[in-house]
Parts: sequence; C-alpha cells; structure tokens
Amino acid sequence: MARIARYYREYGLRIVKGLLQYVWDDGGRRYLDCNTNHGVAFLGHANPKIVEAVRRQLEEVWAVPLNFSTPARERFIEEFSRLLPAKFGVVFLQNTGTEAVETAVKIAKKITRRHTIVAFTNSFHGRTMGSLSITWNERYRKAFEPLYPHVRFGKFNVPTEVDKLVQEDTCCVVVEPIQGEGGVNPATPEFLKALREETQRKGALFIIDEVQTGFGRTGAVWAFQKYGVEPDIFTAGKAVAGGLPIGLAVAREDFGDVFEPGEHGSTFAGNAVVMAAAAAASRLLREEDVPAKAERAGAELAKALGEVESRLAVRVKGMGLMLGLELRVKADQFLQPLLERGVLGLTAGVNTLRFLPPYMITREDIELVHAAVSEALKRAQ
Ligand SMILES: *Cc1c(COP(=O)(O)O)cnc(C)c1O
Repeated sequence: MARIARYYREYGLRIVKGLLQYVWDDGGRRYLDCNTNHGVAFLGHANPKIVEAVRRQLEEVWAVPLNFSTPARERFIEEFSRLLPAKFGVVFLQNTGTEAVETAVKIAKKITRRHTIVAFTNSFHGRTMGSLSITWNERYRKAFEPLYPHVRFGKFNVPTEVDKLVQEDTCCVVVEPIQGEGGVNPATPEFLKALREETQRKGALFIIDEVQTGFGRTGAVWAFQKYGVEPDIFTAGKAVAGGLPIGLAVAREDFGDVFEPGEHGSTFAGNAVVMAAAAAASRLLREEDVPAKAERAGAELAKALGEVESRLAVRVKGMGLMLGLELRVKADQFLQPLLERGVLGLTAGVNTLRFLPPYMITREDIELVHAAVSEALKRAQ
C-alpha cells in the first residue's frame, strides 16, 4: 500500500467525527477544535444547515463546468452578494486560497500592464509559485527559488515607507489585514490607509488577502470593513464553503471581463456541491449574525487568554476569533500538551499559539482553553 506523503508534523491523533465546535478521536475522546483545519470549520463541523444543503445537492448534480449555468451557482451568487460592500460586483471562482491570490494578481497584471508586486515581511499568501513569491518566510521559499522575480518586500506596519515602496512600476500591493501564519499580527489603520492612498496615487491595484480573516472571523464579514479601507480586489477562501475547498477573488464589477474566454480557468471552480455549501454558509453567516457572535466570543476568549498566569506569556494578539497568545519561547512545543488536555490549536510565526475556533464556542469552552493553556505553560516553566 502506498503512503500519504509527509510534510506536516503529526500528533498521533485520529479524528473520526466532528460536530460544531468539537471533534472526536477513535477512542471516543472529545476535543474542542480551535484549529478547525486552519480556520476552515469556522461555522462548525457538519453544521446541520450546511449538511442539509449539501445533501440535497448531492442528489441533483455535482459537476457542471463554468460554461453552463446551474441553480447551485445562482443561489451562491445571490447569497454571497449580500455579504459584499456595494463596490464589489464580481466574483472569480477558484478552489483554494492560493489560487484566489494568483487570480487577483493576474487581474492586476492585466489591468495595469505592470509587473512588480509589493508584499510585506511575515506575509503568507499560499504555496503555488506565484503566491509563494509574495510569501515572506524563507523556510517556505528557499528550496523553490528562483520564484517570480519582480517582488518588493516592505516592512509590515511601517506607513512612512509606503511612499518609497509603491512606485510607478508597481502592479499591485498585496497585504493581509491580520497576518495569520506570520504571527497573528493586525495591520494598523494608518498602514492600510497609507497603502490605499499610495496605490491610488501611483495607479497600482490594492489587493487585501482575506483568505484567513474573511467571512466573519474578525467580527466583521470582511476585516477591511473594520478598518474603513476598501481594496480594489480581495481574496477569500478557508471558511467560505463551510469546510469544502473554495477560493474567491472579489473585485469591482468592471474588472469582470478582464480575461478573454480561455485565458483563465480551473476545472473544479464553481463545483455545484461546493456552491451549495457556500450558499448555505453565506446565508447562515447573515441570518445568525455570525460576525457579531465572533466579536463577543472573541472578546471573552481574548480576556481568558490574557488571564493566563505564566511568565512565558507575553500578550494576546488578534481580532474577533482570530487570536494569538505570544510566548517568550517556541510555541509548537505546547500543541501536544494542549491536545492532551482536550484542546486543538495551531501556531503562528515561531512564538505564537494561535486559536481559530468556530463561532459557537461557549463560555464553558473558553474556560477549558484557559485551563488547558494555563496547565500546559505551567508544566514548562
Ligand atoms: C491559508 C492562506 C492562504 C492559502 O490558502 P490555501 O487554501 O491553503 O491555498 C492564502 N492567504 C492567506 C492569508 C491564508 O491564510
């Protein structure tokens, strides 16, 4: 029998079931899921409303290319449109976050006819060659160089350097409103405003990567709404289809015809089952006011993490239910101890424990996180 290639750390956990904020292992033990497959299961595992929509779609039709229309896609665009600020009138369908970023950059290259991309220290935009070229961490990039050569990295959150960074040759600026993989680092309002103004002045496009921050997690549907700054294009992915693979680039309506037929595409893009899931997820987000719930639960979780008494804990970072606990030491040594105490988490950067729980996390769940983190850190000092 072949084996599955190994390029992830393994924790010896075999998950056999998921329901809302919990998963269960093959021994019947329950875990609070603050990993959620890198934030994918933000609406909870097997959310009944999404399950029902997918189940219905499975009996209708699965695979319909973008050349033909199909009701699942019509329902998706109707529901998803209600989550978009007025400026955004067109959605490019893809299957993953990295493809969404690639698509956004392709749009920008074609519209501006320029080729230099500006990105930032500690950025993460994906692992295909284009997105990897604007991802900062050497550990992800080194073995695959040369990558796309026309990239300028600037310092994240340094608005005074933006003027020098964005030039007449700049095609686009790509930034995460809160850096996820890079350490749960929120952008400052001044920084995003400087990027918005400078791209406008120099004729470059401003791309905000919402693959991790988007779809309600930060307390707004899109994190840029919290900043009062609108990009020309933004990307989404992870949570949008309730757990199925999706990636989206969202743009001004007039960018909708930028590609000639055949100039861009993807076999699986707009898959009917994924569209049914994303339509149900979009509806649920609005009807249950998920962003407001993420905001409230996020404030409680941030408070609980801030009350962890340990000399190893430095500070709590993030927004809504995208939170990091920065430590004085490497964070990955605590994932196993947390797991043993019934909590699945992630790391971000080197020193940050990251928590991306589903929006329905309760006060009791938050107390469990507090206890598990407190004990895990206590054992280490
Ligand atoms: C996860 C992530 C991506 C890549 O998404 P994939 O679905 O893994 O390709 C891109 N940008 C950001 C900000 C992400 O967090």
